[in-house]
Amino acid sequence: MSVAQPRVQVPDIAAQVSFAMRQMGVAPIPRNYELFYEAYIGSNPKLTKELAALGARATQEELDAVGAQYFGVHQADGVQGAHGKIANELEGLLTLLKEEQTSLESYNRLLEETHSRITSKSAASTDLLRNAISVLSEATGTTMAQGRVTVEGVEAKSREMEDIKKELDEYKRIANTDSLTRLFNRRAFDDRLASIYDSQRGRTTTALVICDIDHFKKINDTYGHPVGDKILATVANVIKANVRKDVFVARTGGEEFAIVLDLTTPEEAHLIAERVRRALEHTPFKNSKTGVDYGPVTISMGLCMAGQTEDPQDLYHKTDIALYCAKTNGRNRTLIFEDGMKKEPSKTWLLYRK
Ligand code: GH3
Ligand code: MG
Ligand code: MG
Repeated sequence: MSVAQPRVQVPDIAAQVSFAMRQMGVAPIPRNYELFYEAYIGSNPKLTKELAALGARATQEELDAVGAQYFGVHQADGVQGAHGKIANELEGLLTLLKEEQTSLESYNRLLEETHSRITSKSAASTDLLRNAISVLSEATGTTMAQGRVTVEGVEAKSREMEDIKKELDEYKRIANTDSLTRLFNRRAFDDRLASIYDSQRGRTTTALVICDIDHFKKINDTYGHPVGDKILATVANVIKANVRKDVFVARTGGEEFAIVLDLTTPEEAHLIAERVRRALEHTPFKNSKTGVDYGPVTISMGLCMAGQTEDPQDLYHKTDIALYCAKTNGRNRTLIFEDGMKKEPSKTWLLYRK
């Protein structure tokens, strides 16, 4: 008789973030959630450290100061500003169109009046015609001028709207980008993972690869954190350079990266993962000034097809198990998830679970 394996618990990030906030007496407002979420997933260790240093009773000003430092102008403020600008522009546009409508209506009325005046006389006198033509030509000139003003106004407003759209796109980009590596961040990764399950095709032909740098702690301890950061950026570049341009690559935490491969088979996905792994293995990590060689830097990879899973958490969890097995089988290798693969519950490569 087979005994069912207990399911390993997947951490509920939202619950843990709000628990930490409650513990620290932090107001449950969106910008604080954002700050704690970023700190929790460890996308920027300096941010995590600074937030921890604020201690148990941080004031809102202190929290906002950390937020401003790491997110620049707070995104929510920026988006709020852009939203206000759009509302103003739309109001301006409506006023312009209203003026145009009023002008056209009065022109129409004038046309009707003149028409009825001309047709009511049995024989139009020369004076009447002359008078009608002069009234009409003046009104036509005014209406045309008004039309030109409206067109210019609408053009200016559309240019402004275009600028606001660019501004909003930029906020969106910043919110989804990891500042150290310029790859997508954990937030974008969570969205991407969820979107796999939106379509049947995505569910069957998408592969998730999670990469974790081998013995990265040792690299940090030996050469220092700034060198570690440079290595993270280089690893990101090597991954990016060895997959197709449209492949989704994210830094999902500390020294962990994720690759989402679309429309693929396990064999194909394995080939791509191995290409990345080998490219990194052969990348020189020599400091050209000092001659110090930080390399070789290697990564271990876990791979799982979405088709073998039920939901995003399950996919992440199974890929993580495959990664764990790649680590325990000697590192610097890629393993595909198989039923029966297991992992000690205590050890994980997810930074935020530590
Ligand atoms: P393993 O092969 O088992 O993955 O060993 P490891 O040393 O890579 O694993 P471990 O999880 O013990 O250490 C990860 C280290 O990554 C710890 C932390 O100092 C470092 N780290 C995490 N984020 C950053 C970062 O943004 N910059 C730098 N320089 N180091 C980071
Ligand atoms: Mg590691
Ligand atoms: Mg790790």
